[in-house]
Amino acid sequence: MTGTIPAACIIGWPVEHSRSPLIHNYWLKTYGIAGEYRREAVPPERFAAFVRSLAARGYVGANVTVPNKEAALDGSLPDEVAGAVGAANTLWLDGGFLRSTNTDVEGFLNNLEACAPGWDRDLGNVVVVGAGGAARAVVYALLTRDAQRIAVVNRTRHRAEALRERFGERVAIAPFAALNDLLGDAALLVNTTTLGMAGQPELGADMARLPGHAVVADLVYVPLRTPLLRAAQARGLRTADGLGMLLHQAVPGFALWFGKTPEVTAELRAVVEADLGSSAA
Ligand code: NAP
Repeated sequence: MTGTIPAACIIGWPVEHSRSPLIHNYWLKTYGIAGEYRREAVPPERFAAFVRSLAARGYVGANVTVPNKEAALDGSLPDEVAGAVGAANTLWLDGGFLRSTNTDVEGFLNNLEACAPGWDRDLGNVVVVGAGGAARAVVYALLTRDAQRIAVVNRTRHRAEALRERFGERVAIAPFAALNDLLGDAALLVNTTTLGMAGQPELGADMARLPGHAVVADLVYVPLRTPLLRAAQARGLRTADGLGMLLHQAVPGFALWFGKTPEVTAELRAVVEADLGSSAA
């Protein structure tokens, strides 16, 4: 407990790698808000009890990361977004009730808008690679826009099928072998897998197949400029990176806990980039 100073935390297992404390403590300092944001390493078997004791521990809310985003729904009152996505990453106490939402949806959309203004104008076909938790947030986000067909390409077919069952007929599923053939009329390509992450194989999509107006987004942010983003930029396409999404998804949580809607600025980005040990080159 830290008296009357509002505190929030990120709950994960592991949690050491998280940049959320850096982001939220930067905003607390920038806006001169007396508050704290901490890391809480909580193993899955202790997660439910920890969440029940948030208020007693002096917290006004929390972020939730791997592996508890699904479990976070059970111990809280999810809003429409978290319910539709089937996972929550942000919790807050509201008059004695613990509520939850999924800010990856807003983070994904706002980052795209910041990096590629007008990206969703006459949005036609979209290709989403991956069918995990992040893909659910991305597909839900795209369904709130004008995507006509969202082709989900995933290694494990039944996970892609689960996405179609959850989100309906605008979602089509395809194997990896079909990826390049789907790019010809795609307005947006999104990588939601771990492919391209440091130490992982590359996605290997052929950028030459995308139309010149297409936008390419990658959720991976280590490295910052993934092989996919490099290839897209070399082809002259507009891109949106995973760090931008990470920064934008943090905005609603900060506003809920600390009562101020913070800004994603170049300075904040530079602070996190420096911490990631990467260059924006
Ligand atoms: P997840 O639920 O574990 O899903 C992982 C996805 O990657 C699945 O579709 C999986 O395919 C695929 N995959 C993993 N290794 C693969 C390989 N060797 N070949 C082909 N596909 C492979 O994870 P998640 O929570 O969705 O997160 C996915 C990525 O998004 C992570 O890199 C995470 O850091 C990132 N992310 C970023 C943000 C952000 O703000 N930038 C937010 C959320 C997530 P299978 O189904 O076949 O296993």
